[in-house]
Amino acid sequence: MAHLIRTEDIKRLLSFQPETGLVTSFYLKVDPKYFSKDQLVTTTKSLLKEKMVQLGEDHPDYLGVKEDVKKIQRFVEQEFELRGRIRGLTIFSSSPNNFFQVFQVAQPVKNRVVVDPDPYLRPLVAILDEHKRIMLVIVDHRDARIFEIYMGEILEHEEFTTNIRGKIKEGGWYGLEERRIERKIENEIIRHYKQVADAILTRFRKNHFDYLFVGIKEEDFSTFSNLLHSYLKSRLKGRVNLHPKDHINNILAEAAEVERQIEEEEDNQILENLIDAVGKADLATFGIVNVLRSIHLGACQTLVVGDDYHQPGYACRECGYLTLQPENCQLCGKSTTPVEDVVEEGMEEVLLQRGEIKYITAGSPRLEEIGHIGAFLRFPV
Ligand SMILES: [Zn+2]
Repeated sequence: MAHLIRTEDIKRLLSFQPETGLVTSFYLKVDPKYFSKDQLVTTTKSLLKEKMVQLGEDHPDYLGVKEDVKKIQRFVEQEFELRGRIRGLTIFSSSPNNFFQVFQVAQPVKNRVVVDPDPYLRPLVAILDEHKRIMLVIVDHRDARIFEIYMGEILEHEEFTTNIRGKIKEGGWYGLEERRIERKIENEIIRHYKQVADAILTRFRKNHFDYLFVGIKEEDFSTFSNLLHSYLKSRLKGRVNLHPKDHINNILAEAAEVERQIEEEEDNQILENLIDAVGKADLATFGIVNVLRSIHLGACQTLVVGDDYHQPGYACRECGYLTLQPENCQLCGKSTTPVEDVVEEGMEEVLLQRGEIKYITAGSPRLEEIGHIGAFLRFPV
């Protein structure tokens, strides 16, 4: 089955360097808003067919790649489910090495088939860099559950119960004895909290996360958060209303809400910084025309773009120049050809220039102020 790609997967793919045969890397843009399953199957077939023609039957690895193509096509036709927040599908196949792996990504990818001695990973590396990892720990006096939320997916890491040994007998004998037991129970709760805090720290060391949320009763929140390691305290974002015994659906709903809030906060922060910088005539610009210009000059450090912003235009196939008008290339003078979306072409170019891309969720209030696209620059243009 396909799951959302993680840093570990990419590291594993990077280390996959087969001695024989080639690796077919397949990227498909799958936004359910724009494409039906049938359309995706048709696109897949034509992309793969084109690649085979390009490779040619005389190629020494033709048969191996042909086998990859069959498997990829079969997966898209028969197993792939178009749903949720998935925007990209990636498949890596190397039949001579019995290697076949499928991943989903939450960002759009550009349709592409690459046949190379090793997996083609550049688009994935760029995507992963910008995504935030959130840890959610749900804890009460004896139970705890630890979840990780990443690119719209939630994963439960561990669940544990600490045995609280003390128990207050009803109508206990002496007040003194009761207080002693109460104190003992308090100590055991603290011991349990410490174990949970240690487990989170272990998680953090293994696999860094950016934010931590704690599902705990309000009256217990400060006791628990004071026991967190200082690394974790600085990542603590807040408390949510969850209990370890809650139904998984409640937990999922709350996790989705937490992720949405984080994204919204970040979106707002980025837009604010951009608008501020432009106002101070600092290293930033906005609007499609200015942004394209900055890309041509190699000045675009971070592209900030609404995640559903599209704009048809023209591209020079010689040098990559992009424009909204049907004009000759302003850089090399050659004629340009129509492209469906200059925004996507621009993104590709930014990644080639080792810049980064920040998606802003469509509908974010200040996105319109910048004309849905902006850029932080490396140097003034
Ligand atoms: Zn040109």
